[in-house]
Amino acid sequence: MPARVVFGAGAVSQLAAEVERLGATRVLLISTPGRADMVRSVARDLKIAGIFDQAVMHTPIKAVEAAREMAKSLGADCCITIGGGSTIGFGKAIALTSALPIVAVPTTYSGSEMTTIWGISEGGAKKTGRDPKVMPRAVIYDPQLTLDLPAGVSAASGMNAMAHCAEALYSHEGNPIVSLMAEEGIRALAASLPLIVQAPRDLEARGSALYGAWLAGLTISTTGNGLHHKLCHVLGGFGLPHAETHAVILPHALRYNSVAGEALRRIARAMGVQDAPSGIWQLEQQLGLPMKLADIGMKKDDLERAARIAAQAPYPNPRKVEYQPVLELLHNAYEGVRP
Ligand code: NAD
Repeated sequence: MPARVVFGAGAVSQLAAEVERLGATRVLLISTPGRADMVRSVARDLKIAGIFDQAVMHTPIKAVEAAREMAKSLGADCCITIGGGSTIGFGKAIALTSALPIVAVPTTYSGSEMTTIWGISEGGAKKTGRDPKVMPRAVIYDPQLTLDLPAGVSAASGMNAMAHCAEALYSHEGNPIVSLMAEEGIRALAASLPLIVQAPRDLEARGSALYGAWLAGLTISTTGNGLHHKLCHVLGGFGLPHAETHAVILPHALRYNSVAGEALRRIARAMGVQDAPSGIWQLEQQLGLPMKLADIGMKKDDLERAARIAAQAPYPNPRKVEYQPVLELLHNAYEGVRP
């Protein structure tokens, strides 16, 4: 992969060096409104042309246009994103139309910093695509910056990473090398997330989870998605929160895909459990995550429509994607039934 990776506690001190390596002198800094002070302080030694601090989840086109306009009017020659998948999403949206290089400093476990995948929402739907231009040129993983990430956000975001690894193991575009990365990613995440929820300032566990996220991003960037990602994408269109939706759906999507026996065995082996879907469900309970679609904003009346959309244009998947069993899956996820 073309991205440079700088990894370790204190690695963010390399930020200026990474910008210099790109020959950039007019940096546009990107963050969410809530993290803007922290981001300014991390970048205090850099020459900044401006800061766009209005990044929000699902990259709505109106905000994207404002960010692109700001990059253009400042004459920016580089974007630095410090934050989670939402923040990185804005750097990618700018790069998509301008080819500006991105230096990403991820502070969640979404894995987006390792992918060529972009996403922009317009008119209630999210358009996604793949383009090498949006892949960050350098990624700095610094576990110290993640010590304040709340336990609940950490757990949900970690399960988002786990989902990337899980689907890579049965992807129609998978290969043995990606499977090794996926299994190692699951191992790192399954071991570190419970430690983080118990003690959010455990630096070693934070480093381990970032390592898992790095692997997870690589796996999703080099393979196609299956039913799980499709359903989460569809449910995102109903306004559900990204990472929590991944967490609720994953055990049910894996049960749906029981035919992918080898992949499920590898997930279970990496987690040290007998059965992947129920092992994931149990881990999520232990992490204190929401277990029902009903608890994260889904309306019961919308389940049929969601199943229909998912079955109409399915992603390639080990088991045929059909309306009735998908609806059943969604009902189970809605009620939080143990899969
Ligand atoms: P997020 O970026 O929305 O962050 C969640 C919350 O945590 C935000 O309020 C943020 O300000 C806060 N936060 C982030 N880092 C923090 C820190 N260190 N300390 C305290 N608070 C912190 O959540 P996410 O799950 O990382 O990203 C979700 C978005 O990423 C979605 O839009 C999704 O579609 C996208 N995504 C894209 C890809 C891809 O490959 N393109 C992959 C995964 C997710």
